Amino acid sequence: MQMIWNQQLVKKENKSIVLNLIMNNAPISRADIAQTSGLNKGTVSSLVAELLEEQLIYESGPGESSGGRRPVMLLFNQAAGYSIGLDLGVNYILGVLTDLHGNIVTTKNEKYTNISFDDTLNRVKNVISFLIDAAPLSPYGIVGIGIGAPGILNKEGDILLAPNLGWKNVSLTAALETTFNIPVIVENEANAGAYGEKKFGLGQPFDDLIYVSAGIGIGTGIIINGELYKGINGYSGEFGHMTIDKNGMQCRCGNKGCWELYASEQSLLSKANEMNLGIMNDVNLGEILLLAQNGEQAAIQLLKEVGQNLGLGIINIIHAFNPQQIIIGNRLAAARQWIEPQVRNVIDKFTLSFHQTDIKVSFSNLSLPSSALGVAAFSTEAFLKSKLQMQ
Ligand SMILES: [Zn+2]
Repeated sequence: MQMIWNQQLVKKENKSIVLNLIMNNAPISRADIAQTSGLNKGTVSSLVAELLEEQLIYESGPGESSGGRRPVMLLFNQAAGYSIGLDLGVNYILGVLTDLHGNIVTTKNEKYTNISFDDTLNRVKNVISFLIDAAPLSPYGIVGIGIGAPGILNKEGDILLAPNLGWKNVSLTAALETTFNIPVIVENEANAGAYGEKKFGLGQPFDDLIYVSAGIGIGTGIIINGELYKGINGYSGEFGHMTIDKNGMQCRCGNKGCWELYASEQSLLSKANEMNLGIMNDVNLGEILLLAQNGEQAAIQLLKEVGQNLGLGIINIIHAFNPQQIIIGNRLAAARQWIEPQVRNVIDKFTLSFHQTDIKVSFSNLSLPSSALGVAAFSTEAFLKSKLQMQ
């Protein structure tokens, strides 16, 4: 029994090696796979045959050869199925439909203000239905649904506390799996964003990076040695609730003076409301940025202040992790023009000189929905893993 189990494990690992080589190096021949992996040609051939049968890879015309018969090349069938990823913000839902390689097929963006759990669940379902309908026909259909949610989530994906949504001990997983009959993964949105940046965005060249998701609240995702660091129970990265003023404002998490009260989109909106910047209707980030673009000094000053406060928290993160890169993402990345000089100035002034060598501070590319892409990738990976295990 032990023997059989071991053989199956080895086979699964070998198949995973072959699939990964095809995913990352396609087009590639069977001979190249054997040479790169060190597996013998017979093993490679039989594993390739299985993957072909499962439609996870396909053969294409002959590749380059230095003489003799040209080999048939293998490619990853990224259209074998599709994955859905949703970034569940406090005031928006951003959904993406991707192929198995993470290429975006369709996006769906919805802004809203009612944050009750039931209302949000309905909106989430609508966005998912829209994306399911938009998926091209494929052998596996929608392989998984990933949700990036703000707040503290356990490893099962239950949302234990989402202060900015006013949610406590709620779960999206069961409700969505019942409705769609598709596997659902719920992950902290900053963790998802960090993974999205590492896999598809600015983090690709780096193995040690911290993603700062600055939206209505602040969350951070930690990548160490190229892997997402989640902590013992999955609660890592709650820097948004790092105390920066013990006598400071009351936070919805129960503490006082948390970083996100001074450096988030919400802090910007609250101050803008107090100051009455002349914005009619509801104050929002877009309006504030517009005022700043038009040279409105009060708006520019507010953005600068948030930039400084963002920098103050980042100093602590740099001191703790000595990372290669800090990526500032989510909604405040749109205010880069005003906050970047402040963040850099604070880091230059107050970070220990040792930590300043080799640190790169970047702002997310606004066209890359890193959090939605990150959770879509988690779902794709879970699907591929399950395919490898089934044999
Ligand atoms: Zn707090």
